[in-house]
Amino acid sequence: MLVAWRSSPERPTSQGKQSEILERVDPTDHSGRTIFMNTSEQPRILAIHAHPDDIEFQCAGTLALLKDRGCHITIATMTAGDCGSAELGPLEIAAIRRGEARAAAGLIGADYHCLEFLDLQICHDNEGRRRVTELLRRSRPDIVLTAPPVDYMCDHESTSRLVRDACFCASVPNYATHQWDPSPPTAKIPHLYYVDPIEGIDYFGNPIPSGFVIDISPVFELKLKMLACHASQRNWLLKQHGIDEYLESCRKWSGRRGAQIGVSFGEAFTQHSGHPYPHDNRLQELLKTREV
Ligand SMILES: [Zn+2]
Repeated sequence: MLVAWRSSPERPTSQGKQSEILERVDPTDHSGRTIFMNTSEQPRILAIHAHPDDIEFQCAGTLALLKDRGCHITIATMTAGDCGSAELGPLEIAAIRRGEARAAAGLIGADYHCLEFLDLQICHDNEGRRRVTELLRRSRPDIVLTAPPVDYMCDHESTSRLVRDACFCASVPNYATHQWDPSPPTAKIPHLYYVDPIEGIDYFGNPIPSGFVIDISPVFELKLKMLACHASQRNWLLKQHGIDEYLESCRKWSGRRGAQIGVSFGEAFTQHSGHPYPHDNRLQELLKTREV
């Protein structure tokens, strides 16, 4: 069995500087595991989804709240959205969409990275796993938000699987990413959460239950502003569907999630709780939400 490596003060590590700032912070963890967190820095959040605008639709409100609480936020997209136009070629639209994603991230002071996969070509393979693992090692997140395991299209599901794998692989010392200037292994597996699938349904149209809902009402207008940065997609949907439903669909879905906990707007998450990922709900702890 491949065992995830966990840093501890007793264990020698090549990442000596990193280990010095790790402290045991929750000795009563119910699983009996020792939890080490980087307490000398602000909590680090990585939100990674397939395409530019997925993050804004599904978890930008939560990111804005986390930023307010002093967290460091990194937003990443697997692709630059090179298939997101009926008029422009892939290089042209990708350049526009990188700029839109960076502008949206800038509204909450977040870093933005694009992993430069191509639309409809994100595959669950070794090359993809290595590339996403390298991002995990470079961004060193305490919490990761990503695509759900079941969603309406292949890029979303492949992203979910690759990110889940990368959270594990990043802490394995002998796992090589074969990337340029590789970063050292991480000290722990981060808390991993899945955002909603589009419309919250599975392949058969059945609702997929979520773990908990976060009240994003105070920052909902900021979430809409972030989404509105993706002007190319707003126009693309208008051309494809004939109606300007980009912001309105976000308002409706956020309102439905909010109604589940009696607030105006919400975003839902489900925590990955498989072995050996952390089970305590760090995200909920940071934002004090109610389970539904
Ligand atoms: Zn997408």
